[in-house]
Amino acid sequence: MTATATLAPSPVMPTVDFERDGVQHGFLRLPYSRDDSAWGSVMTPITVVRNGSGPTALLTGANHGDEYEGAVALFDLARSLTADRVAGRVIIVPAMNYPAFQAGTRTSPIDRGNLNRSFPGRPDGTVTQKIADYFNRVLLPMADLVMDIHSGGKTLDFVPFAAAHILPDKDQEARCFAAVAAFAAPYSMRMLEIDAVGMYDTAAEEQGKIFVTTELGGGGTGRAETIAIAKRGVRNVLRHAGILADGQAVEKAPGRWLDMPSADCFRFAEDSGLIEACVDLGQPVRAGDLLARIHPIGRTGLAPAEYRAALDGILAARHFPGLVKAGDCIAVVGTVED
Ligand SMILES: [Zn+2]
Repeated sequence: MTATATLAPSPVMPTVDFERDGVQHGFLRLPYSRDDSAWGSVMTPITVVRNGSGPTALLTGANHGDEYEGAVALFDLARSLTADRVAGRVIIVPAMNYPAFQAGTRTSPIDRGNLNRSFPGRPDGTVTQKIADYFNRVLLPMADLVMDIHSGGKTLDFVPFAAAHILPDKDQEARCFAAVAAFAAPYSMRMLEIDAVGMYDTAAEEQGKIFVTTELGGGGTGRAETIAIAKRGVRNVLRHAGILADGQAVEKAPGRWLDMPSADCFRFAEDSGLIEACVDLGQPVRAGDLLARIHPIGRTGLAPAEYRAALDGILAARHFPGLVKAGDCIAVVGTVED
């Protein structure tokens, strides 16, 4: 960690004391001078619930500002969790990229920063880079277990799954997948990232943490079913880690394991136009099956482009809006493990 030792301290000032027992609701205050507030700040809500010594869980939602299951589940947990039910410490940040969350957008309206591509961040960078740096150098080192709850946002929709990554440290990987299993989402995924550089996931994993992520739906909203999965999953993982000691067992749910064995899982549009879904989320597909057509919209009488599955599995994710552009991810096929 010699590279970080030379960095300036983070400008983020927490209004909570991470070493104090009990429940504290406060803010991560980040100075942000601007037209409507000369000495203003970004005020990211945070809750710390601590009870003696023990492991620390760091729970985040709305890393992307238009993903809602995590935010709902974590505002709910922050309001309801009492210290007497905790053994150790739970740090809850329901809306990690708070400016993006307030704007209802994936990236920050301040600097267009995608927080999940901004790690390790910079203490002297943009607002988004400063948030990343605070998580990387202050919050992640406190944590044993890190859970970051994503959904598809406005442009993707997923079957609900919890996920972890294949890691070089097999003991760490096994502990991550045990936590994924405890989350008990309808699906559990061995996840392949298109582009892992700059991700919070990678930062947490490189610090040796147990890391669980999710994709619980999407379309820029939350549904009753997926919010219930998030609420149950968060409590399940805390029980699994021995941090939530409420006398209840991990609530099991029948689930299926999915894998993303290669980049062949992804289908990217090479055409722009009107997308015709040919398979719905969760449906089985075979290699060669038609996943979607993209119809040209400039004139009538033209044939649509066809997009087919490259492997057998289920449709795990799809593009959400009805119009697509070349380069958009239009489908992800996950292979089913038996
Ligand atoms: Zn996300």
